[in-house]
Amino acid sequence: MKKILLLITVCCLMANAVSLAQTSTEIIDAIVKEANQNSQLEPLAHELMDVIGPRLVGTPQMKKANDWAVTTFNKWGIEAENQEWGKWRGWQRGITHVDLVEPRVVSLSGMQLAWSPSTGKKGVTAETIIIPAISDSLAFQKWLPAVKGKIVLVSMPQPTGRPDDNWEEFATKESFEKMKAERDAQTEAWRERINATGYNTRTINEALENAGAVAIVQSRWSSGFGANKIFSANTKKAPVIDLSLEDYGMLYRLTENGDQPKIKVVAESKELGTVPTFNTIAEIKGSEKPEEYVILSAHFDSWDGATGATDNGTGTITMMEAARILKKIYPNPKRTILIGLWGSEEQGLNGSRAFVEDHPEIVENIQAVFNQDNGTGRVVNISGQGFLHAYDFLGRWLHAVPKEYKNEIETTFPGTPSRGGSDYASFVAAGAPAFSLSSLSWSYWNYTWHTNLDTYDKIVFDDVRSNAILTAILAYMASEDDTTTSREKAVLPINSRTNEQYEWPEPRSPNRDGGKD
Ligand SMILES: [Zn+2]
Repeated sequence: MKKILLLITVCCLMANAVSLAQTSTEIIDAIVKEANQNSQLEPLAHELMDVIGPRLVGTPQMKKANDWAVTTFNKWGIEAENQEWGKWRGWQRGITHVDLVEPRVVSLSGMQLAWSPSTGKKGVTAETIIIPAISDSLAFQKWLPAVKGKIVLVSMPQPTGRPDDNWEEFATKESFEKMKAERDAQTEAWRERINATGYNTRTINEALENAGAVAIVQSRWSSGFGANKIFSANTKKAPVIDLSLEDYGMLYRLTENGDQPKIKVVAESKELGTVPTFNTIAEIKGSEKPEEYVILSAHFDSWDGATGATDNGTGTITMMEAARILKKIYPNPKRTILIGLWGSEEQGLNGSRAFVEDHPEIVENIQAVFNQDNGTGRVVNISGQGFLHAYDFLGRWLHAVPKEYKNEIETTFPGTPSRGGSDYASFVAAGAPAFSLSSLSWSYWNYTWHTNLDTYDKIVFDDVRSNAILTAILAYMASEDDTTTSREKAVLPINSRTNEQYEWPEPRSPNRDGGKD
C-alpha cells in the first residue's frame, strides 16, 4: 500500500514537473511570438525620441516623458505612477542659432549646452578671441580684460576631422603615425596653455564671463565623423555653445590668422525655478509572493544634445516592451514585477539611489533586478556582480532562453560588484541581486553616448527586440523560481595596487536638490 502511494506521489510529482516544463515552454514561445509579431518598439521609440525628445532632469520634457510612460503603461492595463524623489533646477532649452557674419555669412552648426544662460531673442554679435599661450597666471590676469565684449574660443582645434579608423584604412602607416604624434604634442601643449592660466577647463569659463566675455564657444569632439559630446554649461551670464569640429576649426583659423571673424549667437533658454523630479514606477502585482520583487530597470533621463535614443531610450523601451509582453502573456506572475524608469541617472544615479533609500521593504525582498543601459546592441555580457550563487539562479534562468537570444552572451561568475555606471549599482550596493544586461557597442562611446547624434536612426530595432525577449524571459523565470535568490557575497579579490581586499560598495544618498551650482 505504502509503495503504491509512494509510486502515485512520484508519478504526480513527475506529471507536475512535466506540465510546468510544458507551460514554461509555452509561455516562452508566446513571449517570443508576441515580441516578434506585435512589436511596439518602433512606435514607442517614435513617441519618446521624436515627439517628446531629450529628457534632461528638471526640464518640462522629462516630466512629459514621465506622464507619457504612466499613460502608456495604463493603456496596457499596467498600474503606474510617478514617484517624486527630489527637486532640480528647472530649465528649458530654446532656439540656438549661430552664424558667421564676418568676413562672410554662413550659418554654423552648433548648440548651447544644457543649462546655458540665455542671450535673449536678439542674441549677441561679437568678434572672437583665442586664449593665448602665456607664461603664467599673472600674465593671464593681465590679458583677461581683452575678452570684454568678445566671444572666447576655449577648445583646442582638432588637427583632423577624420576618425582614427578612417586614417587606419587610407593613410600610409608613416603618415598615420606622424599625425598621431603631432596631435599628442598639440594636446599636451594645449593642456599646458590652459594650466598656465591658473584655471582648468571647467573653472576658466567663470573667469572669462566675469571679465566680460559675452559668449563662450567650445568644440568637444567625440572622435567620430560629426559627433560632439554635449554636456552642461557652468556659467551664470555667458551662454556656452558647442560648435561642430568643422565650424570650430574654421573659426579658430580665421581668428588665429587675424581675419577678424564675427559671429552672431542666439541661445534662448528659460529658467523655471525649482521643479519636482520623479521616477516612473509600474507594477504587475504578484499572485503568490506579492511581497517579493523582480525589477525591470532603465534610466529614463538623458543628456539633451540629441534625443537620448541609445542612452537610454533603448533601455527604456526594452523594459516597457518586456512589461507589455509579460502583462499579456503572463498576467499573474508569482512575484511582483516592477518596472523602474529612473530619473537623473546622468547626474549620479539619483533616481535609483532615492528609490533604494525610500523603499527598504522592497529592496530587502528583491528576487532580481535587470538593468540595461549601454546602447542599442544585443546583450553580450552578464556579470554575477559578486553574488556567490548568481551562477546558479542566473544560469537556470538563462537556460530557458532560446539559443538565438543568448548565444552571444558571455557570463562572468561571481564577478565583482559595480560601483557606478548605471542604476543596477544602486541596488548592488544595498546587497540586492541586480544585474546589467550589457550590450554590444555599435560604436556607442564615440558616436552616440552623450552626443549630438544620439537619435532614433541609431536604434537597431532587431537587437532591441532580442533584448526585450531576453528580459521578458529572465523576468518570467525569476518570478516563477521556486527558490528565493541568495544574496551571499563572494570573497572579493585583493586590489593589486593597494594590496588591500576590495570592499563591497556602500549605498550612497542621492542628490535630491540638484542643479543649483
Ligand atoms: Zn545611460
